[in-house]
Amino acid sequence: MKCLINGLVILADKVERGLAIIFDEKIEKIATISEINKNDYEIIDADNNYIAPGLVDIHIHGYLGADVSDGDADGIRTMAQGIIKNGVTAWCPTTMTVSKGEIEVAFSAVREVKNSGEYYGARILGVNSEGPFINPSKKGAQAEEYILRPDADFILKHSDIVKLFTVAPEVDGAIECIKKVSTESNVLVSMGHTNATYEESTAGVKAGIRHTTHLFNAMTALNHRNPGVVGAALSADNVSCELIADTFHIDKGLFDLVYKIKGDKLCLITDCIRAGGMPDGDYTLGGQPVHKEGIKCLMPDGTIAGSVLTLNQAVKNLFENSDLTISQAVNCASLNPAKAIGEEKNIGSIAVGKRADMIIMDEEFNVLTTLLGGEVAYKEEK
Ligand SMILES: [Zn+2]
Repeated sequence: MKCLINGLVILADKVERGLAIIFDEKIEKIATISEINKNDYEIIDADNNYIAPGLVDIHIHGYLGADVSDGDADGIRTMAQGIIKNGVTAWCPTTMTVSKGEIEVAFSAVREVKNSGEYYGARILGVNSEGPFINPSKKGAQAEEYILRPDADFILKHSDIVKLFTVAPEVDGAIECIKKVSTESNVLVSMGHTNATYEESTAGVKAGIRHTTHLFNAMTALNHRNPGVVGAALSADNVSCELIADTFHIDKGLFDLVYKIKGDKLCLITDCIRAGGMPDGDYTLGGQPVHKEGIKCLMPDGTIAGSVLTLNQAVKNLFENSDLTISQAVNCASLNPAKAIGEEKNIGSIAVGKRADMIIMDEEFNVLTTLLGGEVAYKEEK
């Protein structure tokens, strides 16, 4: 049995010092340091740094040159291993609007890697299928030629591997699709890349939408006469919202406002593309050219094309630019996304009975150590 000590432990509702977290694959006990005999355990000393739950990224396309939509199993393995450096211990490989055939190849690649268990790194929870059932007028960086009419059977056919998918509620066939998927499966239905009015979005929520794909980006804005998708997503208590907190997709001035409204339904995501973790230069996203410079990824026409954000940086951005407590900020990248996809019994916080997915971070939110199911999977090189 292992024991993690000497850290500032970020629990879901408070931060505590002087704790001893005892674990194997799961967290067995949380005691105070005076209650345990150190000789009974293999001690991991956090050296006065933060001890946080492993982060959960439910929307990430690529990293270190690989992209889920390539449909390449080795690329998915590269990503799983790469993102543990950023404190991510569980993730949803995310597909783009590419051809239906290519999407199915990508689903199969994720299925193969996940089911065989032959990979090292962040645990694969299932696919986030971003599109292809979106509105061409809000396509963002998604390829218009591959956009399709919403088809519940396509998602249901792959509901063994798909955890969530994006649909524009106003397009022809969407409401029927939302109803069918949400009643016949556990797949989370998310609204996004949508030109819906407030009324159309609300009808989508009534039909079964429970999540929002990168709130504010690629959707109708909140206007006082047209509350739009943003207005509907913020109003609906049963709808969680993703946020790309890189301070470029969303102005940091909105962080507090959104948290005040959504609270534990706010989920930080990266929307990271293959340029993540790579030098500035030219890359592709869903077959389209993208140029990375600093934190910005743009298509030749200036359209924002995903991000190169890391999830630990997103937590830092949110924490430093809001009134949130550190527990609240960390929850947005761990417990809240875990809840959104129904995984909160197993992961998302440091609590007895959950997987021992934990990270040690310094005060700048740099990840020093990542524990996956109780094993040290990453340690920063000094
Ligand atoms: Zn995306």
